[in-house]
Amino acid sequence: MFNQVKWRARLLFTSPASAVYAFKCRCYNLVNLFLRGKKVKCNICCWEGYRFSAMAGAYYIRYNAICPVCGSAERNRALIAYMNNRGDFSDKQVRYLDIGPIKGARAYFEAKHCDYISIDLDTKYAIKKMDVTRLQFLDETFDIIICSHVLEHVKDDLLASREMARVMKPGGRGYIMVPFDKNRKETIEYEKPNPRDPLHIRSYGRDFIDRIASAGFRVQEVDLVAEAGEAKAALYGLGKEEICVVCTKKGG
Ligand SMILES: [Zn+2]
Repeated sequence: MFNQVKWRARLLFTSPASAVYAFKCRCYNLVNLFLRGKKVKCNICCWEGYRFSAMAGAYYIRYNAICPVCGSAERNRALIAYMNNRGDFSDKQVRYLDIGPIKGARAYFEAKHCDYISIDLDTKYAIKKMDVTRLQFLDETFDIIICSHVLEHVKDDLLASREMARVMKPGGRGYIMVPFDKNRKETIEYEKPNPRDPLHIRSYGRDFIDRIASAGFRVQEVDLVAEAGEAKAALYGLGKEEICVVCTKKGG
């Protein structure tokens, strides 16, 4: 409790705007309780409503962002829409590995009778406790690997990427997403915790895509929102852009 108070006090000091964002977020979500009509739909848990919940951070607020039932974010729904478009779920023999799993994904994959496993350092969030830099799976085990907003928390992200390449089957596919600044060429490694970005250990630049490729992948940059098209982007509340690096194994 004390720690949380301390954390909030520090947050207010570094970003006074965070209090405004938090207040706006609460108001927005409160109003949501009274709005009727079905304008948006979560393609992960099938919840329908007038709009998604807002989410506030220290330096931002995102409206129409979070599913109030499964907790999925825009990027999660965008990836599921893309995977459906590609026909990823049509083959039941496919083995999935979800690293730092996407919210609501387990129920979604299980409902589709997929061979699905998720890992995280905290079993609260995943089926198995495991470190992405030491994957306890045999070589060439998985057809599809999802790693969404994980690598920015991992000290040795290149080792993590190599591990993903190792456990991917030839012909398999990886969906890797991180927050990155596409206007900046190079990644910045934080030498100490950055109060503006307290949960991450680096801020990726455009070289993120080359970093992934250097782990043994062929890479393709895909905007999941553009792929979804305007109608689905509006229905699923996808925002403006979600870049995903679609990876296939070199030599696979
Ligand atoms: Zn949902």
